Order: sequence, then C-alpha cells, then structure tokens
Amino acid sequence: MNESTIRAVVQEVLSEIGKGTSTAPAAAPAPRVNGSPNGIPVMTAGVAASAGSSSYGPVSGDWGVFDSVDEAVAAAKDAFNQLRTRPIADRAKVVSIVKEMCEARAEEWGRKELEETKIGRLDHKIGKLQIIKQVPGTEWLKSDCFSGDNGLSVEEYAPFGVIGAITPVTHSLPTLAGNVINMIAAGNTVCFNPHPSGARIACEGVQAFNKAIAEAIGLENLVTIIGTPTIESAGAIFNHRDVRMLCVTGGPGVARAALQARKKAVVAGPGNPPVVVDETADIENAAKSIVAGAAFDNNLLCIGEKEVFAVNDIFDSLMDAMSRHGGYRLNAQQVEALTKLAFAPPKEPGGHHQLNRDMIGKDAAVLAEMIGVQVPAGTQLLYGETDTSNPFVPEEQMMPFIPIVRARDAQQAIELAYEFEHGFGHTAIIHSRNVRNMTVMGKLMDTTLYVKNGPCMAGLGLGGEGYLSFSVATPTGEGVTNPLTFTRSRRCVMVDELRVV
Ligand code: NAD
Repeated sequence: MNESTIRAVVQEVLSEIGKGTSTAPAAAPAPRVNGSPNGIPVMTAGVAASAGSSSYGPVSGDWGVFDSVDEAVAAAKDAFNQLRTRPIADRAKVVSIVKEMCEARAEEWGRKELEETKIGRLDHKIGKLQIIKQVPGTEWLKSDCFSGDNGLSVEEYAPFGVIGAITPVTHSLPTLAGNVINMIAAGNTVCFNPHPSGARIACEGVQAFNKAIAEAIGLENLVTIIGTPTIESAGAIFNHRDVRMLCVTGGPGVARAALQARKKAVVAGPGNPPVVVDETADIENAAKSIVAGAAFDNNLLCIGEKEVFAVNDIFDSLMDAMSRHGGYRLNAQQVEALTKLAFAPPKEPGGHHQLNRDMIGKDAAVLAEMIGVQVPAGTQLLYGETDTSNPFVPEEQMMPFIPIVRARDAQQAIELAYEFEHGFGHTAIIHSRNVRNMTVMGKLMDTTLYVKNGPCMAGLGLGGEGYLSFSVATPTGEGVTNPLTFTRSRRCVMVDELRVV
C-alpha cells in the first residue's frame, strides 16, 4: 500500500460512516467530545463511552451497601467502567477523600469499631485510622520504558476491574480504607465482604466514602460492600465472573479458600512472628520494643510479636527490663493458669490447641483478672517464662501475653524462631548488634518483613523506613501491598520509530 491508496481507503470508510468526505490527512485526530453522534462510539480519555453499562441493568444500593453479591458486583462494575473514562486526578481525589475522612473521624470511627468488635484498644483503634494517610496512592503509579534501535516500548500499569476483597475483624475499617486507597489509585473498583463482627463499621465507612466521592467527582459505587456478610457471600465473590481478582486479609481458613479460588488472589495470611534477643542486644530498647509491638491493639496485629527467644546470657536482664516498659511478669503458676484458660487441648493428637476466642484482643488487666491478678494501672502486656511446649509459643494468640523462652545461644534462638514461625513467611524480629546473627536469621527465616532493633510496626513504615498497608501478602508473595499490587502490566510497542535521540 502506498500513501494514496491509504488515503483512498480512509476516505471511503469515513464517507460510509457518514463523517463526510473531508480531504484532511488521515492522521488528523478526531475531536474528543462527549455524546455519540451518528451512533459512533465516542472516545473520552481513550475509553468507549458506551462501556459504562452493566449486563445486570440498573442496580441500587444504599451508598454502596448491598444485600446481594450480584448487585454489589454489578454496581462496582458499572462504576469501574465510568472510572476508566476519568483522569487519574479523579482517582487522586478519591484517595484524598478516604485519607482525610479517616483522619477527621478517627476518634468516632475508632470508638465505633471497638464497640462493635469488642477487641483491641481504643487509643490504637484511633491511631490505626489516623495513619491511613501514610498508605500510598496515585503517586505510586509509574510507566517503564525501553528505548533502543528497534524503537520505543512503554509498559504501563493498568487496572484489573472489580476486585473482591475480604477484611479481618482485627482491623475492619483500617484494612478496608487502605485497600480502597491502593485499589482505586490503581483504577479499580472493589466489592468487600467484611468480617461479620466488624461489618457495621465497615459499611458506615463505605457509605461515608461513597457520599463524599459522589459529591467530589460524581461517581457512585466505586466501593461496594455486602451489608450482611457470610461465608456464602464470600464464596459468591470468589466465584463471580465479573470479579477479576481477589485480595484476602485474614487467618488460615480464608487464606486457604482464596488460594483454591480459580482467579488471581493476593493473600494476606496469618503469621506467628518470633523475636530473637541475643547477648549483644540493647536490652532496654529490646524490652521497650517488644512491649510496644506485642501490646499494640492488644496484640491483634498479624505482624505483632507473638513469642520471644532470648539467649541465656541476657535472659534475666531482659525479663527485668520488660517490667520497666509497661510489662507485668507472671510467675510459673500464673502462666499455667492463663494458658489453661486461653487454650483447650487439640482435638486430635498433633493438632492445634483450640484458642479461646473470648480472650482475643482483651486488655492485659482483664486477662490478669481472669487468673486473680491485679496489675498496676498502665500495664500494657503480660509476659512470663515458658518452654516451647506451652501453646502460647506455637499458636497465634492475638492477646497481650507473650511467652519468653530461654535459649542456649543465638544459634538455638534463631533455629527456634524458624521452627515456630511455621514457614508462614510473614514477619520475624531480632534485637542484636551482631550483623552475622542478623544475616543468618534473615536468610533462614525468609520472611516478608524482617525487623531489626525495633517494634514490629517499624516494618510497616511506623518508625522504620517504608510505607504502610494493613494487607501484607505473604503466601502469594506481593509483600506489603501498594497500588501496583492491583495492576496489570501492559506493553505498548512502536517498532523502529519514536526513539528521538
Ligand atoms: P478470620 O480468618 O477469622 O476472618 C477473616 C475474613 O475471612 C473474615 O471476613 C471472615 O468472615 C472470612 N472467612 C473466614 N473463613 C472463610 C472461608 N473459609 N471462606 C471465605 N471467607 C472466610 O481472621 P480474623 O480473626 O478476622 O483476623 C485475624 C487473622 O488474620 C490472623 O490470622 C491474622 O494474622 C490475619 N491477618 C493477616 C494480615 C496480613 O496482612 N497478612 C492482616 C490482618 C490479619
């Protein structure tokens, strides 16, 4: 084909579709206007305007809250098709809205979440909403470029569409808000199945976000949620044909279910983070850090310190130091009494101890009272010496008692840490000034987060470098989730041209 043949073909096509017989060069761009004259799909920001309709027809929820999964997904799909036509600046507005609302309403929403879930601590429920502003948004989107003798290729990061997300009871609204920021920054919309015990606050957040988003950019249902969530509604989201990917934050059951789903899943699963304290550690800093991390929201964090392996040389000084930083030491009988209340024996030999869920996330003073101990005001955490046969060591207890196990030396402490992390690949912590020990432990543990000389929160950008997310994807390997976690990489190739250097 030469140039005149191409011109002739283009002109024929244009006249056929009623666009007239202009002799303008074929390369002249069509004006981008709204509407659809002559039945031709008109492009706005590169997306066909007709793409906005859903196969389900109009659906109505209560500002994003729906009874049925089909309706919630259809609404999110409609919203996605509209979001695709919008500039990135609109996504950035959504991100700002969610961050600002979480900060402005942290006290009210933190209190409501505690009243509903009845686990954790008010100061930390509030704190977890105040830090939502540290979750990364549209500024994380990027393009990669390859420029060479064969031309120019660009890799851009595109949204998936509707994401199905499951949130835990331990941080219902913070996880939801963080997911919304990451997912919408990347151009997706989302349908949540919240934990039933934290659904009310999750729905309130979704409604407030949606109202403010509609006011700011005129789009509804960028975030949808199932008002009365069940395992069945979670399953329906997992299997829905219009849900393009999953993001699941929760314990072993839901992590397993998501890994079995027949679609891409980002799984933020359980952990049992061990702490090693070796003979070179700054003991005051180790004690302070362990108390701060393990007591945070009464040890509900998946990254929270769950068991300590301290070498014999510094064992006693660590035990003393813990009580100077808000820890209360239980003696052997008290530890035994608490253990009996917290765990029932395994149902079958070699199985897991059964965790007493009524004790999860309770205050240290409440746990102490259950075994007849009055602790001083301001006590953050109970602790005591155990051996590895105590179920507090292998199990993810999620309550403010931490077992401290005596190890012969650093090597044994590291080996025990490895054994009791169970290969979750989640989080490990060491207090040490010996870089060799740090290196050996880091290599062996192979965890997503590895914190040295600080509390667990440092692993999520709170007192350590890095950024925040409440969904740390462990078995599926995405790590601390961010907007790019929820994108597809697309390559656009120009052969031979457009390299202008
Ligand atoms: P959970 O597993 O009881 O519930 C999590 C969510 O999964 C809930 O919405 C629940 O309704 C749903 N669910 C449970 N079983 C399911 C199944 N078989 N199919 C579909 N949905 C199911 O967990 P939780 O008590 O809410 O949260 C605590 C757990 O979550 C801990 O194990 C903690 O380590 C983990 N967690 C991990 C991260 C992370 O980033 N990796 C963050 C927070 C919590």
